[in-house]
Amino acid sequence: MRNLRGKTVSEILGIPQLKESIYPAGFYTRKERYLKEVLRYCQSRIESLSLPNDAREELLDLNGIGRETADSIALYAFHQRTIPIDAYTLRLFNRFFGTMLSMRNYDDLRRSLSTTFNQEQLMEFHALIDEHSKKMCRKIPRCEECLLRKRCKKKL
Ligand code: SF4
Repeated sequence: MRNLRGKTVSEILGIPQLKESIYPAGFYTRKERYLKEVLRYCQSRIESLSLPNDAREELLDLNGIGRETADSIALYAFHQRTIPIDAYTLRLFNRFFGTMLSMRNYDDLRRSLSTTFNQEQLMEFHALIDEHSKKMCRKIPRCEECLLRKRCKKKL
């Protein structure tokens, strides 16, 4: 991320040895191919000044793009009403609500949240979930300091 931060889509596509920039992320040969494909998709949208009706579906058609990545790009880059369900979200929901959700519940949970909140709320919500999960609801949770403690089903 540090190697690419601050660069535009065209600048990244213009890097002759993109592989070297993404080398620290691992699987760089495959990732370079996928990254270029998604960047070309974004570039074509930028050039045509058109927002796709359903960026999520179009992104899912690209090689190497799974649900979580498609939802992240659709939410943050194309401002569409969706939300990625990542490991942080599942862990926090399962602890807080005392549920046993897994990636099998991805689509149901995404649909339910996407119809409950508007796009701005979804961005904020996702960012807060990740932040909270990194700081408090970690693998070993810091329940004693957690503001959600009173309502959480799993507090330790
Ligand atoms: S009380 Fe503990 S388990 Fe519940 S949300 Fe907070 S950190 Fe996570």
